[in-house]
Amino acid sequence: MTTQNLEPVFDKIDKSKENLIRLCQELIRFETVNPPGRDYQPCVEYIGNRLKNSGFSVEYIRARGTPGDCADFPRYNVVARFDSGRKGPCVHFNSHIDVVETGDGWTKDPFAAELEGGKIYGRGACDMKGGLAASIIAVEALIASGIELKGAIEISGTADEESGGLGGVAYLAEQGYFSKDRVDHVIIPEPLNVDRVCLGHRGVWWAEIETHGRIAHGSMPFLGDCAVRHMGAVVASFEDKLYPAMAARFTKMPVVPEGAKQSTLNINSIHGGQNEGNEGLPAPCVPDSCRMIIDRRFLVEEDLGNVKSEIYDILHELETSREGFRYEIRDMLEVIPSMTDKDAPVVKATAAAIEEVLGKEPDFICSPGTYDQKHIDRIGKLKDCIAYGPGILELAHQPDEYVAVEDMMNSAKVMATAAYNLLMGNVE
Ligand SMILES: [Zn+2]
Repeated sequence: MTTQNLEPVFDKIDKSKENLIRLCQELIRFETVNPPGRDYQPCVEYIGNRLKNSGFSVEYIRARGTPGDCADFPRYNVVARFDSGRKGPCVHFNSHIDVVETGDGWTKDPFAAELEGGKIYGRGACDMKGGLAASIIAVEALIASGIELKGAIEISGTADEESGGLGGVAYLAEQGYFSKDRVDHVIIPEPLNVDRVCLGHRGVWWAEIETHGRIAHGSMPFLGDCAVRHMGAVVASFEDKLYPAMAARFTKMPVVPEGAKQSTLNINSIHGGQNEGNEGLPAPCVPDSCRMIIDRRFLVEEDLGNVKSEIYDILHELETSREGFRYEIRDMLEVIPSMTDKDAPVVKATAAAIEEVLGKEPDFICSPGTYDQKHIDRIGKLKDCIAYGPGILELAHQPDEYVAVEDMMNSAKVMATAAYNLLMGNVE
């Protein structure tokens, strides 16, 4: 693959530094905290107005009826498209506009977007308004450089990624915005570090297990049946059977950090028996119910059906071996793992662009948690999708979150180079 002379594009990006800083700051100043999903409409209109001035046609799409959508907190998304007028593929950059709550521990104002020492601080700076700003500067430079382009470029700003993406990418995918007749290659500028290509993510299954017992006086527990002891047997079985079985499984997915290369199970919570309440008085009864929430993360090599039956089998075995054991299990959330092939065009184009711009070989990784790629893959059926963007993964959702201006500048050049080569058919 050879990149033609992109000097005019790089030159434009270099001259856009102040513009990039201002854009990133202005995006951070929209307090798009989710939940509840604040200020989506002014934020998408700001993005839309800017891209309209850069030659894009702009659509605003409200995800009516999705979780959380209401008059106070409408789920607004923006999709902007630039058509070169020449036949060719479409490269789409997708960023979520929502941010998580600020939490404690900040030494900066989380929505002032202060620039200090080459870093912009604020909630969402890293995850992922810095990436959104860099992708906008990248495509604006590409278009304004006067270099002949083919095909189309799209930019979307979407809602609700932090709460599962139902009012954002999932909704747009259902409406056909992420489908083969419209989009060919997708880059999601999540904060995965400026020199890494993220191919996908592990799967998720959340479930609630409840064991049942019978209430009785605490002095005569033999007259009742303790639901907490039944749950203890479930945990013991997990320790004996499930954890060793999971520890023996490794994935070929390049998940970071290292510990996430295995299947994992977190016991998020266990609640059993009567609540002590504010007075702290001890509950005098045998518990008749105990609930546990589990968070099972699984690998691309594992099948969700098998992941579930491994736990169903443990519960079923206890039902036959343990006197009085009664239980229920309820699904709460399912996400299938997604991993784009290392030879896919968007992966090759971005990897080559990292080498050109940064002069180093990229790392290929997968994310331990999920992001909107799942909807693009499952609903949109688009397999040529990665996450690539500035910002340090570990800073996401932390106090004093920041993005480095230099990383945004470099990633803008990488994104422009990758997009150019994809549009011109220089990859494969
Ligand atoms: Zn994110």
